[in-house]
Amino acid sequence: MEQKITMGQHGVLNVPMHPTVPFIIGDGIGPDIWRAAVRVFDEAVEKCYAGERQIVWKEVLAGEKAFQETGEWLPKETLDVFDTYLVGIKGPLTTPIGGGIRSLNVALRKALDLYVCQRPTKWYEGVPSPVKHPEYVDMVIFRENTEDIYAGIEFASGSEEAGQLQDFLKDELKVDYSFSNSTGLGIKLVSEEGSKRLVRAALEYAIMHKKPSVTIVHKGNIMKFTEGAFKQWGFDVAEKEFGEQTYTWGQWERTKNEKGQEAANAEQREAEASGKVIVKDIIADNFLQQILIAPRDYSVVATMNLNGDYISDALAAMVGGIGIAPGANINFKTGHAIFEATHGTAPRFAGTDSMNPSSVILSGVMMLDYMGWHEAADAITAALAKTIKEKLVTVDFYNLMEGATLLKTSAFADEIIERL
Ligand code: NAD
Repeated sequence: MEQKITMGQHGVLNVPMHPTVPFIIGDGIGPDIWRAAVRVFDEAVEKCYAGERQIVWKEVLAGEKAFQETGEWLPKETLDVFDTYLVGIKGPLTTPIGGGIRSLNVALRKALDLYVCQRPTKWYEGVPSPVKHPEYVDMVIFRENTEDIYAGIEFASGSEEAGQLQDFLKDELKVDYSFSNSTGLGIKLVSEEGSKRLVRAALEYAIMHKKPSVTIVHKGNIMKFTEGAFKQWGFDVAEKEFGEQTYTWGQWERTKNEKGQEAANAEQREAEASGKVIVKDIIADNFLQQILIAPRDYSVVATMNLNGDYISDALAAMVGGIGIAPGANINFKTGHAIFEATHGTAPRFAGTDSMNPSSVILSGVMMLDYMGWHEAADAITAALAKTIKEKLVTVDFYNLMEGATLLKTSAFADEIIERL
């Protein structure tokens, strides 16, 4: 009998001993890195639970393989399987060019309403980095995954729709802007529910993992009713729903106005000492500067879709690049989650068994943690860290490290398995 992960009470998953977990092998380098990663997952689970637990992998199709076999890029059956089994993992997928689906990843997130894109960024000893102190970077990004300009509501310059929308803005809404025929238009959408559920997830994570702060990153100084509203809704959630466990900069501001700065500072120090999560905000451009200058000031980050996209890559670069950057797309309400390597298909390297599988391996670690199989997750993280520390690496790291040993993707997985 097939065993399924289900959503239990109070948002806690029920995970059976032999859960069926769907996977998409991915395009380009996907098959190489997946084959390496899955051996690591299976060995770790086998070792940690003495054979009592086991993941039953179920392949589902998407991307080029799906197109070749079914004529569709993202068959409905694939979506149904992810829907049924709740938790899955995927390799990178080619973005089909022209017509139909804009991006398979976006389509998957949309279909399952995976509203949190969660990306931890942490440095592993020995990983080449362009900054002096990569060990200071230890952040978890919560990027809103369903709104913002990613909603895809755009009209090309010169199109009839763009003209109609311009007329509506000028005539009905009295917008004072000199549009021209060559102006394209896009719509930025930010809702209270969308913002609050994202920030709520970040706060719950910070509280559960005893993190010092949640920083709301936004561009509210310019976009007041979208990014500015996101910030305000974020602070509202913190104060109304997590008042006991958090201390917000909004509260600091109020105390400062009533009792002066000294009193506000004292209040914040007291909150920090009592282990409350400090909820603060920062303008996005300043944040991109601060992560380079003072990365230790930031821990959990809550941000909107586009900011999150930029921030994820900037932080990933600081700790070793996309070859080692894992990610997850999660709906904490329904339990649906798809874990994924954050890089693309690197098609030039397809079938070369040379690329770094760390991104998909660490995505699997996130998945095991999400399932509550922490022992297996920790074992893999430790073995991977040890392998890199011993300078046994794939070509991306090899090129930037002195005295390293160059390994194929599959051999790198062998070394991790040996160290489990
Ligand atoms: P890419 O991430 O595929 O590759 C860029 C470069 O990064 C590669 O040339 C390679 O040097 C390096 N790289 C990527 N993965 C690596 C790994 N595991 N180890 C070592 N080095 C690695 O980006 P791209 O070339 O812009 O995109 C190629 C395709 O992938 C496009 O079709 C794009 O739409 C798609 N894409 C998919 C995803 C996804 O499925 N999540 C994400 C981004 C891009």
